[in-house]
This record gives sequence, C-alpha cells and structure tokens, in this order.
Amino acid sequence: MKAAVYKGRQQFSIEEVATPSPGPGQVLVKVKYSAICGTDVHGFLYDVVPPGSVMGHEYCGAIAELGPDTSRWEVGDRVVGGGGVNPSGVKRAARSEPRFNFRTMGYAPEARRAYAEYVVLEEWEPIPIPEGVPDEAATLCEPCSVAVHAVRESNLRLGDAAVVLGAGPIGMFCLQVARAAGAGSVIVSEPAPARKDAALELGADAVIDPTEEDVIERVVDLTGGGGPDVVFDCAGAGSTLDQAMTMVRRGGQVVLVALAWEPTSVLPVDWIAREINLRASFGALSHEWRIALGLMEAGKVNVGPMVPGESYVPLDDIQEVFDSLRRPSTQLQMVVRP
Ligand SMILES: [Zn+2]
Repeated sequence: MKAAVYKGRQQFSIEEVATPSPGPGQVLVKVKYSAICGTDVHGFLYDVVPPGSVMGHEYCGAIAELGPDTSRWEVGDRVVGGGGVNPSGVKRAARSEPRFNFRTMGYAPEARRAYAEYVVLEEWEPIPIPEGVPDEAATLCEPCSVAVHAVRESNLRLGDAAVVLGAGPIGMFCLQVARAAGAGSVIVSEPAPARKDAALELGADAVIDPTEEDVIERVVDLTGGGGPDVVFDCAGAGSTLDQAMTMVRRGGQVVLVALAWEPTSVLPVDWIAREINLRASFGALSHEWRIALGLMEAGKVNVGPMVPGESYVPLDDIQEVFDSLRRPSTQLQMVVRP
C-alpha cells in the first residue's frame, strides 16, 4: 500500500510499504479520508515526530478485513478511526500519565496511522458512523470532539455570550458546539478571509479581524460593556491568551484549547483584579466522539463550509500541503484522500 512516511526534517516520502495485516482482536481499515490536524503540522514544523512514523489521526473509512477472534464488525462497516472505549485492563495512551507533557511525550515512536491506504486497529478502537452522517463529516469527528470536550469542560451556560479566538477547524467546531450548548451569542476573531467567511456561514454573530480592529474593545462593546462570559482560545498565537483574559467579564472563564508551541506573553495586572478563571482543555473522551457524531447527525454541526472541494488532496501532494501550512494559513481544513 501507499503511505506518507515522515523522514524527519520536514520531509515526507510517499512509499510503497507492506499492507498491515490484522492480528487477533484487530481489524484492517481502508482509509477513505484523513484530515490534516494542526497537531500533525506542529509535529512536522518542530520536527518532533519520530522518523518512520505515519501520521494522520482524523480519519474515516471502512472495515476491510477482520483478524482472528473479532466479533464487533463486518467487512464494509463505516467507521471513524478512533473514539472507542478501551476494555478494562488495556493500558490507555501515554496522555493519562500523571506528568504527561504533550510537547515531549505527545508523539508516539513509529506510529503507523492514516496518511496511508490502510490502518490496523484494535477492534475496540474505531466507532461506527451513523447512517445520517456522511464520510466527509465523520472524518472530522476527532477535532469536533475536541470542541465538545472544551465546551463541556467550560462554565458556559444557556444564553451566555461566548467568544472564539481563531477560526481554524477547532475554532469553527467550538463556535458550532457552543451554539448547540445554548450560547446566546458567539463572536469570532479571525484574520484570514476564507476562515472569516466560513465562520459567518456557520453562524457567528460577528467576526472581527484582529489585524484591522482592536479585538478587545470591539468584543467588550458587542457584549454590552461587560465582556463575554466565556472565551475559547483556539488560536494560541502571540497575544491571544492575554487578549482572552483581558476581554473576558469579571469572574468569567477563558478556556485554552489551542496548543501554543511558542512562549506567549501575558500581562496579569490588566486582568487579575477581575478574578477570572483559566481552564485548559485537551483532547476528548470516548463518549465525546459519539456526542460529536450525534451533533452532526442532528444538523447542529455542519462541516460543509469548512471543507470546500479544494480541501481534498491526493496523498502524493502531502509534502506540498504541509509546506503551505507552515505559514499562517488561509486554508480551511485540508483532507488527504489516500
Ligand atoms: Zn487532531
């Protein structure tokens, strides 16, 4: 099969490798779409992905082969490549370690994932795709579940004013999930024109361009002078965390969703007296993947504007796409078609 193998130093090579074969309790999944996650781009950019790895953890496909002693699936079943509940006794991922550090421990050595035609999974790992959810949406179940987790961990309450900083894929899901959770209004800050348009289409009440306007002043103004109840920082760029703390209302909450890889400066004296609350949010739990699919099925989360036709690229173009994602991007969500 064909796979995009990471070679180190920001280089992929498209290689013909042996198609993996499912062992006892495992299944082989034929990958249909594999979305490019910001996490993969960071791993590439900071060159922390072990050479020999095949990245790609946001994908959907169909069961292609059953290993011995499997009982959950039939060949042809549509699945999301993750989100399953680990059986008791099966060790969970490294991230549950007490001192887990994503930067130094987040990239598994020699992981073989879905920038490839096939992936082998334990049969409990994938989850079924409901009939009403198209593959294009199911592919983005994982990033949507990250937004579901962020919103569920937040203090957001019915009717609250929410702000989303950064309308990348996670920001666009946060916008929709916050709305589904009952936010009274959602304001988005985003400089890239294509992402601004998509955020409006997905129901943002206002989209502010932080390169043209004073985003703090504008948000405070739009929320009647008090500031928003909850701010989701889905950008993690430069000063966004400080912006979030400075704009949030007295006693309000900032949820940090973005993984900032560069030091970020904050000036506590500007906001400490309002006794705000900072909450970090990372990844998602199994049931949140299913909640994400449920929101898609109910039409409360729509991926259409996030993945226009030009988002889909063949596996052979992966180097080019990652190179283009090094720069502050105007792309929406890129998806590889192995
Ligand atoms: Zn991801």
